[in-house]
Amino acid sequence: MTWTLADRVRGPVYEPGDDGFAAAAAGFNLSFAPRPDLVVTATSVDDVVEAVRFARSAAMRVSVQSTGHGAEAPIESGMLLSTRHLDHLRVDPDTRTATIGAGVRWKPVVDAAAAYGLAPVTGSSPAVGAVGYLLGGGIGPLARSHGFSSDYATGFTVVTGEGEVVEADADTNPDLFWALRGGKFGLGVVIEMRVRLVEVTSVYGGSFFVDTSDIERMLRGWIDWTAGADERVTTSVQVVGFPPLPEVPEPMRGKLLLGVRFAFPGDTTEGERLIAPLRAASPVYLDMIGELPATELGRIHNDPTDPIPAYVHGNMLDRVDQGLGTAFLDVVGPGAGDSPFFAGELRHLGAATGRDVPGGSAVGGRGAGFACGFVSAAPESFASEAPAAAARWDRTAAPWIADVNNPNVVSQPITAERVAACWPDDIRERLGQVRRRYDPDGITAGWWQR
Ligand SMILES: Cc1cc2nc3c(=O)[nH]c(=O)nc-3n(C[C@H](O)[C@H](O)[C@H](O)COP(=O)(O)OP(=O)(O)OC[C@H]3O[C@@H](n4cnc5c(N)ncnc54)[C@H](O)[C@@H]3O)c2cc1C
Repeated sequence: MTWTLADRVRGPVYEPGDDGFAAAAAGFNLSFAPRPDLVVTATSVDDVVEAVRFARSAAMRVSVQSTGHGAEAPIESGMLLSTRHLDHLRVDPDTRTATIGAGVRWKPVVDAAAAYGLAPVTGSSPAVGAVGYLLGGGIGPLARSHGFSSDYATGFTVVTGEGEVVEADADTNPDLFWALRGGKFGLGVVIEMRVRLVEVTSVYGGSFFVDTSDIERMLRGWIDWTAGADERVTTSVQVVGFPPLPEVPEPMRGKLLLGVRFAFPGDTTEGERLIAPLRAASPVYLDMIGELPATELGRIHNDPTDPIPAYVHGNMLDRVDQGLGTAFLDVVGPGAGDSPFFAGELRHLGAATGRDVPGGSAVGGRGAGFACGFVSAAPESFASEAPAAAARWDRTAAPWIADVNNPNVVSQPITAERVAACWPDDIRERLGQVRRRYDPDGITAGWWQR
C-alpha cells in the first residue's frame, strides 16, 4: 500500500521495521514510542495534500507531529505525519509579522524577530513547536501583559481533511480562522501560520529560588501578592526536586526548591519596584533576576531541552487562595513524602489572557485566573501511581479547578471527557461544526473525539 504513497510524496515514508522509522516517529516525551502504520515526513504542501488524500482513501487517522512536545497519548495505528521539514520562516519588519512553517520551533522565530527589535508572543520553552503550541491558545511568560499567543495569529494555510489547501484569516474562511485560534485538534493540517510580532526587546525578569525551609512562606506570600499584582507582570511558581546528578548545577543538586518566575516587559527600575514585595516574602537562596534580552526569555522557566519520559497533569484554576496553597504543598511541598510528582507549578493568568480578540476565538480557559501542572519523570509511576495522584489532586482541588480546561494545559490522562472540557459548551459546539466542515471524516481528529 505504502509504495503508492512513497511514489507521490517527495519526503521519506517509513513503515515499521524500516531503518529510520523509530527516529522519524519519536517525539519529546519518551514515555510514548509511537507505533503508527506509517510515518510520512512531509517536505512541501503537496506532500501533505497527497498524504491526507491517501489517508482518507485508506480510512486512516492522521496524527500530526512537529516536535512531539504535545505527545500525551500513544499513537498505535494510522499515519504519523511529521511536519518537521516544513521549516520555512520569514519575518517582515514592515508589517511586523512572521510567517512560520509548521515544523518551526519558537527559538528561530524569536531570533529572527529580534534582529528588528521585535518578538513573537511565545510559550515558556523556545524548543516547543510554534504551530502546535499556538493552536491550543498558548500561555507564555508574558501571558498577563500580552494574552494568549493565539490572539496574535493573523492567518493560517491549512490542508483540510479532504486534502484541499485553504487559507484562513479574518476575511477568508473566518470560521476556520476562529477555530484555529485555540481549537487545537481535528481542523486539518496547518502548513504555516502568520503572527503579529510585538515591540519587546527585553524584559526585567528571570527567576529566583528559595530554599526548602522557605518554600511554604514564599508560596503563601506569592499567593497573597497575586491578588493585587500589576497587570503588566506575569509570574509563576514551581516547586521542583532537583535530582542529585552531576549535570545539575551545584546549588540546586539534590535539593527541593521553589522558583519564582517573573517577567515585566518594561525598565529595570520599575521592575525592581514591582518585584520588591516578592523578594521580601522570604530569604532568597539563588537570584537570577535582571534585564533579559527578548532572545533569552526561555531562561525564565528553564524548561528541559532534552527529551524525557514524563507524565504531566494540568488544570486551569478559577482562583488560588491559601487553601489551594495547602493542597499544592501536600502534592509537591517539603512534606509531600513519596509523591510521584517531582515538580508542581502554578501560573498566574488573568489581565490580558481574560480579554478576547475582536470577533472572538476558540481559546479554552480564557476565564481562568491560574493554571497548574504536575510532572512525574519516573516511568514506573506512569501506569498507576501518577494517575492516582492526579485523580487525588482533582478531588482535593475541585473547589478551585475551573470547569473549562485548556488543550495545552490538560496533558494526561487524555480522555474524551477531559478533552471535551477544554472548551465551554458554546465554543465546543461551534468547534464541532467547523471540524465537520473542514474535516468531515475526522481524519485529523484525535481518537478521543471519535
Ligand atoms: C517543555 C514543555 C513546555 C511547554 N510550555 C508551554 C507553555 O509555556 N505554554 C503552553 O501553552 N503550552 C506549553 N506546552 C505545551 C505545548 O504547547 C503543547 O504540548 C503543544 O501541543 C506542543 O506543540 P508541538 O508542535 O511542539 O508538539 P507536537 O507533539 O508535535 O504537536 C502537538 C499537537 O499539536 C497539533 N499540531 C501540531 N502541529 C500541527 C499542524 N501543523 N497542524 C495541525 N495540528 C498540529 C497536533 O494535534 C499534535 O498532536 C509545553 C510543553 C512542553 C513539553
